[in-house]
Amino acid sequence: AKGSGRNGYALFDTSLRDRVRDRVRLEQALRGALDRGELAVYYQPIVDLESDELDGFEALMRWQSPELGFVSPMDFIPIAEETGLIVEVGAWLLRDAVRELVRWTERRPDGARRLHVSVNVSVRQLRGGALVRTVRDTLAETGLPPEALWLEITESGVMEDVDTALQTLNELRDLGVTLCVDDFGTGYSSLSYLHRLPVGIVKIDRSFVAGVGEDDSTNEPIVRAVLAMTHAMGQRVVAEGVETAVQRDWLRAQDCDLVQGWFYGKPEPPARLEDWLRRDTA
Ligand code: C2E
Ligand code: CA
Ligand code: CA
Ligand code: CA
Repeated sequence: AKGSGRNGYALFDTSLRDRVRDRVRLEQALRGALDRGELAVYYQPIVDLESDELDGFEALMRWQSPELGFVSPMDFIPIAEETGLIVEVGAWLLRDAVRELVRWTERRPDGARRLHVSVNVSVRQLRGGALVRTVRDTLAETGLPPEALWLEITESGVMEDVDTALQTLNELRDLGVTLCVDDFGTGYSSLSYLHRLPVGIVKIDRSFVAGVGEDDSTNEPIVRAVLAMTHAMGQRVVAEGVETAVQRDWLRAQDCDLVQGWFYGKPEPPARLEDWLRRDTA
């Protein structure tokens, strides 16, 4: 018993020390990642369910570190947020994504429908004053129609500081960009604040999209309720994490507006999106 106790202690101690060291290494490596060109933007298609046509792409950050290898955004985005690095990195991504969208649009034959690009914005960016300026400058510099830029904000991010968030969101709305609530359903008080936000799009989290269309799905009533509520408020809905035709068919039958997920495509670097851009204009 004595031995295992000591072992238990030693194990805990080592893993804690490891975790602290990993975290410090990650943070240090992340500090220079942007300047060293280690960050990239991948794009995942968002498809209109009614027309089955490409509507746009979500921009997702990727980090390939020479020392640490591929690091998941689930691991480095929280650190970027805590350290404030997300402000600089987020501004870089927003500019990069908008420029990419403008390049794609210029290459499309005339008459082609407009595409959008959807960019994730963290609560840190909402709080600082720089986001509105970055968005305004980027729109002015590129000439992108504002509504073609979507900004995704998580529920929990907004709830952390409703008043500041609301002020920034209203300024962004005044610029004409499209605001989205991301991961809808995973935070708190969804119903009580949704109608107060100047939001045009609601993205249902993939945990609620899992299993819809299957016999024993307990998610279906939830997705139906979200669709009824958001549609009543004039908002459009993106279902995230669509991985099967069964899910797609069910969502279409419920009048869900847009879908995103592996069934349509995984996030990919811009060079690999040519297929999507061609398919849509064919
Ligand atoms: P998110 O904003 O909810 O992004 C959707 C995540 O779901 C992405 O993970 C995407 O690759 C994944 N996904 C898409 N379709 C499917 C599917 O059919 N099945 C499954 N299982 N997963 C799917 P990713 O790229 O690893 O990003 C994770 C999270 O990191 C994002 O979740 C977002 O919260 C954050 N993130 C990524 N890029 C950025 C960024 O530029 N800024 C900020 N602030 N956060 C970002
Ligand atoms: Ca998102
Ligand atoms: Ca999401
Ligand atoms: Ca998510």
